[in-house]
Amino acid sequence: MSRANLVGLLPSELEDLAVELGASRYRGRQLATWMYRKSVFDLEAMTDLPRDFRQALAESAVVEVPEPEREMPSADGSRKLVFVLNGGSRISSVLMPDDERITLCVSTQVGCGFACGFCLTGVMGLERNLTAGEIVGQILAANRLLEEGRRATHIVFMGMGEPLANYAALVKAVRILTDPKLGVGYSPRRITVSTVGLVPGIDKLGREDLKVNLAISLHATTDEVRTRLMPVNRSFDLAALMAAVKRYPLASRQRVFFEYVMLEDVNDTVEDAQRLVRLLRGVKAKVNLIPFNDWEGARFRRPPLARILAFQSVLLGAGITTTVRWSKGEDIGAACGQLREPSAVATVRAG
Ligand code: SF4
Repeated sequence: MSRANLVGLLPSELEDLAVELGASRYRGRQLATWMYRKSVFDLEAMTDLPRDFRQALAESAVVEVPEPEREMPSADGSRKLVFVLNGGSRISSVLMPDDERITLCVSTQVGCGFACGFCLTGVMGLERNLTAGEIVGQILAANRLLEEGRRATHIVFMGMGEPLANYAALVKAVRILTDPKLGVGYSPRRITVSTVGLVPGIDKLGREDLKVNLAISLHATTDEVRTRLMPVNRSFDLAALMAAVKRYPLASRQRVFFEYVMLEDVNDTVEDAQRLVRLLRGVKAKVNLIPFNDWEGARFRRPPLARILAFQSVLLGAGITTTVRWSKGEDIGAACGQLREPSAVATVRAG
């Protein structure tokens, strides 16, 4: 019988486990502190835990953080980490340093079932959801690779998969990451959950009181174009999506991020930009324009620079903070929409 992984359990669950094994709740809190605060994953090294408790733990559970199988550095300073999971599936995370800020982009599923037309991950189809332990494990593993005393400063759930389609594991991982005393101790303001626009998930997330940032993969300003690019728009159209965005609770200086991949002759005109301004009326928004990252077999092209800048200037002119995100890690297949890892056991379903 496979033993449960302690990484991915909430501090309160570790306390319950300690009691089940005949120890006090305090021992569970110590265990959480070793794993989540001190990044120690060897039970033998948890020296203030009684020997018999450590033995009982070792018999029933493991402490497992994934080792990267490969680390691919990019010319722009970002690093793609490829992890092999139990069962042989591969996922990736991307570390993106930018001065003092280090953003870590993590995956929530193996593959993705949403089939956005411009996304290489979507070509894979969905293999399975990640567990909370596999999600938190990516962050703990990536932080271990950084130099002493440093860790990722910002976490974005924008890697492989649709985070809100793996809702329970996502929320559990966020709770572990943001627990200020016994968890990893990230401020929720430094965590961003990105979604294709699953309206019930956005509403549910808003009710959790997690206070994380919300990012919407928007990518189009009409239902016709968005449905063509993102089949999910058939279930939740732009009106439903924008209504959910307006319901999402924000703190006074918090904004909703909108990701907009720019595709030549598809969604890159000045009229599109003007429609986007109208769509975002009444929303505290920040827009990230992402010039398309080419991949072999893609049906789209990146627009010329002048068009990207003209689009941006319409938004800026309307008072909407808008950045052009020249995606990092393009040369190592780590840029937005480029994450695809062949499974170690199964063949990739499509593409
Ligand atoms: S863009 Fe996101 S939701 Fe769409 S297919 Fe790619 S990973 Fe899935």
